[in-house]
Amino acid sequence: MSDTITIKKPFDAHVHLRRGAMLRAVTPITAERFASAIVMPNTEPPIDTVEMAAEYKKEILAAVPVGNSFEPLMTLYLTKNLTPAEIEKGVGNIHGVKSYPYGATTNSQWGYRSILEAKDVLKKMEEVGMPLLLHGEVHLNEHNEEEDPYDGERLFITDILPRLLDAYPRLKVSLEHMSSASAVDFMEKNGKEGQLVATITPTHLLYDRRQAFSGGYRPLIHMKPLVKTSADRERVRDIAKKGLPFISAGTDSAPHPEGKKFSSCCAFGTFTSPVAVEVYTQIFDELGCLDKLENFLSINGPRFYGVEPSKETITLVKKDWQTTDPVVTDEGVNLWPICNTVHGLGNETIHWQIAK
Ligand SMILES: [Zn+2]
Repeated sequence: MSDTITIKKPFDAHVHLRRGAMLRAVTPITAERFASAIVMPNTEPPIDTVEMAAEYKKEILAAVPVGNSFEPLMTLYLTKNLTPAEIEKGVGNIHGVKSYPYGATTNSQWGYRSILEAKDVLKKMEEVGMPLLLHGEVHLNEHNEEEDPYDGERLFITDILPRLLDAYPRLKVSLEHMSSASAVDFMEKNGKEGQLVATITPTHLLYDRRQAFSGGYRPLIHMKPLVKTSADRERVRDIAKKGLPFISAGTDSAPHPEGKKFSSCCAFGTFTSPVAVEVYTQIFDELGCLDKLENFLSINGPRFYGVEPSKETITLVKKDWQTTDPVVTDEGVNLWPICNTVHGLGNETIHWQIAK
C-alpha cells in the first residue's frame, strides 16, 4: 500500500462554523483543508432567510485567510418561518435546507415537530431542485415522549423517511451523518446519485460506544446521532468502502467552548475539522480502499450540490502524529478536537497527515 496520496482538495458536505470568535477560530482550519463546504444554519438566531445567509456568508469570508479561495455554500434552517417564497428567492445562492428533529441537538428548537408538516416548503423545494438535508432522528414521539436516543435514527429511517420520499419523489435529499446499520441498509437499497445521498462523519467511522464509555463518559465524542454499537460502525465502514457515488464526507465539525463541552450536561457535537481529512484517509487505508478516497472526499459531494470539484490538490503522507492542544479563540476560549491526547481517549495517534 502506498504511503502518499494526492487528491483534489476535499469538499465538506456538512460543517458548523458558528459565529463570532468561534467562527474566526475555526473557519481558517476548514478553509485550509477544504475547497468548499456546506455550512449548517443552526446558529442563534437560526439562518432562515436569504438575507441572513448572505450576511453569514460575509462573516465567514472575512475569516478566510488572504489568498485562500475557500467557498462557503450556504443553507437555510427549516424553521416555521421559512416560506416557499424564500425558497424561490434562494435559488442560485442557497444550496440546501436543513431539517433538525425538534429538541434533539444544538439549537434544534425552532424546527417542525415532524418534517412531514412542512408541506408547502417541501413542495417548492422539490419544484426548484433545492436539496433537503436531514438530521434523520426521531427525538420526541407524537405523545411527546422521548424516544430511546440510540433508536432515533432507526425510527426516522423506518417510519418518516419512506413517507417523505413517497410524498416528494423528485425532492433531492441528503441523509446526514449516518450512524446506524438501519441507515446504511436503507441507503444501500435506495441511494441514488443526484437524488438520495448520504454523508459520513469521521467520528462515526472511528468510534463506537465502547470508546464513548471507555473509563467514564467521554464528552469529546458526544454528538447526535450518538456513536452506536461496533456492529453499526462496521456497517458505516462497509458502505464507505463500497465507493458508491451517493456517499460522501461530511465532517459535522461542531465546536463548542470548553466550558460547555465538559459541563455535567455536555453539549452535543464533535469538533473534527482539525483532523477529519487525516482520519478519513487513515480509515480508508485500514479498509484497503484508498482508491475510493478522492471520490468520497472531493468529488461526490460537489456533484450532488451542482458545483465543480476543486482544481487544487492536497497530498497526504502516512506518518504518525497526535493532536495535543486545543484551538484557542481570540477571546481565549479553548475548543478541543476529537483524537486529542488531553481530553480524548488517551494516546490516540493519527497515522496520516497532510503534507505541508
Ligand atoms: Zn451537524
